[in-house]
Amino acid sequence: MVAHLAVYGCQQNQADGDRLRGFLLEMGYALTDDRGEADLVVLVTCAVRKHAETKLLGHLGTYLHGGKPGRKVVLCGCMAQREEIRELLRKRYKQVSLSFGPADLGRFPIYLRRLEAEGGRHIITSPDTAPIEEGLPVARVIDPELNRANVTIMTGCDNFCSYCVVPYVRGRERSRAPEAVLAEVRGLVEETETPEYDTQNRTFTADRTREIWLLGQNVNSYKPDFPDLLRACGSLDGDFSIRFMTSHPRDAGTRLFEVMARTPHIAPFLHLPVQSGSGAVLKAMNRGYTRTEYLEKIRAAKAVIPGLTLTSDVMVGFPGETEQDFMDTLSLLEEVRFAKLFTFQYSPRAGTPAGEWPQTVSQGEMKERFLRLLEVQKRIEEESGG
Ligand code: SF4
Repeated sequence: MVAHLAVYGCQQNQADGDRLRGFLLEMGYALTDDRGEADLVVLVTCAVRKHAETKLLGHLGTYLHGGKPGRKVVLCGCMAQREEIRELLRKRYKQVSLSFGPADLGRFPIYLRRLEAEGGRHIITSPDTAPIEEGLPVARVIDPELNRANVTIMTGCDNFCSYCVVPYVRGRERSRAPEAVLAEVRGLVEETETPEYDTQNRTFTADRTREIWLLGQNVNSYKPDFPDLLRACGSLDGDFSIRFMTSHPRDAGTRLFEVMARTPHIAPFLHLPVQSGSGAVLKAMNRGYTRTEYLEKIRAAKAVIPGLTLTSDVMVGFPGETEQDFMDTLSLLEEVRFAKLFTFQYSPRAGTPAGEWPQTVSQGEMKERFLRLLEVQKRIEEESGG
């Protein structure tokens, strides 16, 4: 039997995909990049933006046509955790045979065996929250150019930013034990990990991983302590570097920056999503920091970490955002001068507080601000030689 796995969304989904790929191999499936030859298609989905969700539902239709007769489609990831989507799957997307949420990752083989044995459709309501399971198989896709591997250290989020669905689909924060994370990182450094699947050569490779990403929705609230974990991982012997994502500006502080500066294998790289440069918008977003506090953290990080590369996320068109609020965002970009920016246009998500608020910024204004934002960032990158 041949399976095709497609991962949408964030790096955390990529890490979940590594686990699912590991399970598929353990269960005797061969993997293919060509969904046309697959008996089983597994889609790891993202619910953060409505656009991504709509696009994926559109793609689902294509799985009805062509391909192998009897092909089964599995939908997992954040979309599958939304009741609204499960309802749609039950009623309209009958080509999906199995769906389950992110907290159920470890039960994938049980669900799949049941599907193989009984057929039918299994649209499962997974728990919101479950401890992160240890000992799951891993088969990483290593991009030969980037040569990097993801290690999930925590999942879920307790921050409840007013626009974000993550706390509702990934559940509350749960951390892996430091020993388990350290063992996984050590395995990667010492090349004792399970085989790594090379997408270009379509083979498994034992190439050494040189860049390891510690992942979580908010790594800074890792328990018991993120700087300690970072120091332990970055102090291992070997030829590798460590980066991490995503940091929440409220929880990133001097102790973290000092560990970054003093630990041998930690890259001088910090992704610190600001979202907006306006105090009023940050408050409405429930981000938990002010513009001034954010800029103070940036100054502290730059002062402590030599050669620091800073990147960020910015959203335009949040409900209530005025032209002046947007100008405050542009002035923040000028002040910080990020090396790279991930930019988004606000899209309301059902089930979040902001999803209920009137959308005060028209689509036209949002697009116009978005283009101005890109223009400013492009110039900053050019001036910095990026
Ligand atoms: S911190 Fe990030 S993941 Fe958590 S609610 Fe806010 S935007 Fe969502």
